[in-house]
Amino acid sequence: MDERLLQIGTFPVEKSGNMPMVIAGPCSAESEKQVMDAAQAVAAIPQVSVFRAGVWKPRTRPGDFEGVGEKGLQWLNQVKHATGLSVVTEVAQPDHVEKALNHNIDMLWIGARTVVNPFSVQELADALKGVDIPVLVKNPVTPDLSLWIGALERINKAGIHQLAAVHRGFYLFERSPFRNAPMWEIPIELKRQYPELPLICDPSHISGNREYIRDVSQKALDLAMDGLMIESHCNPADALTDIEQQITPDILKQLLDSLNPRKETGSQDFQNKLQSLRSEIDKLDTEMLDILAKRMHLVNEIGEYKKDNSITIFQLKRWNEIVSHRLQFGREKGLEKDFLHSLLKIIHKESIRLQNEILNNGKRK
Ligand code: PEP
Ligand code: MN
Repeated sequence: MDERLLQIGTFPVEKSGNMPMVIAGPCSAESEKQVMDAAQAVAAIPQVSVFRAGVWKPRTRPGDFEGVGEKGLQWLNQVKHATGLSVVTEVAQPDHVEKALNHNIDMLWIGARTVVNPFSVQELADALKGVDIPVLVKNPVTPDLSLWIGALERINKAGIHQLAAVHRGFYLFERSPFRNAPMWEIPIELKRQYPELPLICDPSHISGNREYIRDVSQKALDLAMDGLMIESHCNPADALTDIEQQITPDILKQLLDSLNPRKETGSQDFQNKLQSLRSEIDKLDTEMLDILAKRMHLVNEIGEYKKDNSITIFQLKRWNEIVSHRLQFGREKGLEKDFLHSLLKIIHKESIRLQNEILNNGKRK
């Protein structure tokens, strides 16, 4: 996809030291007491600067708790006044935007299920025209970076410059320990294309389970993400949504205290050492590509030879031999089996492509 510019203004990312911005609060606003209790408790954690709670909940099945609606916005307003925290809630329809603005909600987020639908995102963008409010755009449920960028563009074109992206993982049908696979390469590519766009990780919806939240949060810090959005409820077992992944404010505090924020650059000594390790990597990469090119030359020669002798390109026995030998050799060298397998498959695919080209187009020069 072609890379287009987003007009990004300053997002009110409040960092505490090296620690990225932390947004915390329950999945859903359930009652005034539940919201106020959670807000008071998370406000006592120094790293937390924004309070979250959903008042309209997009549920997979009808009949589940769908949020308290507009009255929850009044509770969020009380949170603002009682704690000084900024408040953020989810909007999925134009009337949600209007109601949230009427109740002076500080920030809005657009959920993963809404971001999959460009019509819905456009309706929200239209409702946001002329409004100056920070908006967080979650990644779509499907691992589709263009769809995520498209939603950011639509909101941005409506004049919203205080924009941030939220990485909440991607739904995959395959079994995985995570509720939503992190697929870190996708947010990393987003950051590569839009380095000025703040990127916030939502380890709660990635994990789906309180066990993994700390490790996912640490990984987000290791990848230089700008913030964390973590669900916190005073009695997770009684929560009306996302029971498995909400953590108490006490656990949240311990978790945040246990994280190691990373710096982007270090001392001169560190820089020198890093530079020398990087030049070794550069040298090895050059050698590796040189060897790969030599290998592909040999593949061409084999392709021509097979063509002249009317022999099939794909030879199952040979492929099996390559896989078993290279896997064993690579593992003896300390490389991971899955990595080796993917690498061999990609090399083999290119070898087949080259030989096919020879078969169809005559000699390759
Ligand atoms: C949420 O944050 O509670 C939520 C519904 O998130 P998502 O859109 O990422 O599923
Ligand atoms: Mn949730």
